Amino acid sequence: MKITSVTAVYPSYKNIVSSWRTHFWQIVVKIETDKGLVGYGYGGGGLAAVEVVNKHFSEILCGKEINDTQDISVLWDDLYQQCLPYGRKGIAIMALSGVDLALWDLVAKSEHVPVYRLVGIRSKQQVRTYATGTDIEWYGDSGFTAHKFPHRWMDESDYQKAVNSAEMARSILGEKALVMIDTYMSWNRDVTLEMTKILSPYNIYWFEDVLTPDDLLGQANIRSKVKPTLLAGGEHEFTHHGFMEIARSAALDIWQPDITWCGGITAALRIIEIADKFGIPVIPHRGGEVWGLHLIVSSGCQDLAEVLPGMKGGPKDQLWEGEPQSEQGYIEPNDRPGFGVTINESLLN
Ligand SMILES: [Mg+2]
Repeated sequence: MKITSVTAVYPSYKNIVSSWRTHFWQIVVKIETDKGLVGYGYGGGGLAAVEVVNKHFSEILCGKEINDTQDISVLWDDLYQQCLPYGRKGIAIMALSGVDLALWDLVAKSEHVPVYRLVGIRSKQQVRTYATGTDIEWYGDSGFTAHKFPHRWMDESDYQKAVNSAEMARSILGEKALVMIDTYMSWNRDVTLEMTKILSPYNIYWFEDVLTPDDLLGQANIRSKVKPTLLAGGEHEFTHHGFMEIARSAALDIWQPDITWCGGITAALRIIEIADKFGIPVIPHRGGEVWGLHLIVSSGCQDLAEVLPGMKGGPKDQLWEGEPQSEQGYIEPNDRPGFGVTINESLLN
């Protein structure tokens, strides 16, 4: 089939973190073909990424043949090459991710199969979920056995706050639960080492993004010092080229590419190939969303998917309809063609 139109839209969200709006948050990519099939993908990069898709990528893609995943890989390389002077990392690759996922959706729909069937042989029926957020009691009531809480370093009082959160997570979820901390690049070497000491009674599975993603050597340097806690990161890294740098510097114990930012499933498969070679487990960022979930069930990714349930009763935008939900701590993709979701058109106006 031939691509006839490629358009990106920034949805009219009502319930997302306001500071991310238009700068960074998720865009929808729609690709149409001469056979009447339509593919949808999800990318990052906000309004700037919408411009990249509509003004540059669409020009390259319209008229191109797309019939299988090998075609997607060829188109991915072409787009990467053509946006390289301004791309490589960040907004352009977040835009490329949305395009890539729309192409996977399209090819899967043309073959009447779910995307996970195109990714590989399905090795996981269900995937264990972990809840990221702060409403631990609700997560416990909902059956989660794994949880990650956010921690932003501001001042010395944050040591005690981290201990309090870890204590609460352990007391609600029990000794066997996985408990992780996302520091969102707000710790430094000294804070990380001190946290390792004071949090040791709570058996934290991983510390995430303790330093900036640019400081790979700094992370490599403390990696052995935080054990048995692991160092996780990678949601702010892009493509297999970027992850090759993480591999070479031995900066991280766990890689967390975001499938809607790192270059889509095409880039993720290349990242997983590198991870395999270096013996690094891959646990995609936001892996419980369909874009990551279809990849996880049919690839060498770990059996763990992140979901962000928010607060009990909190408002949420329903952008994708038919999305699988975590139930009693597990999630699985549905068997409908493509990613198995439809777009809520009312949020695109
Ligand atoms: Mg994170």
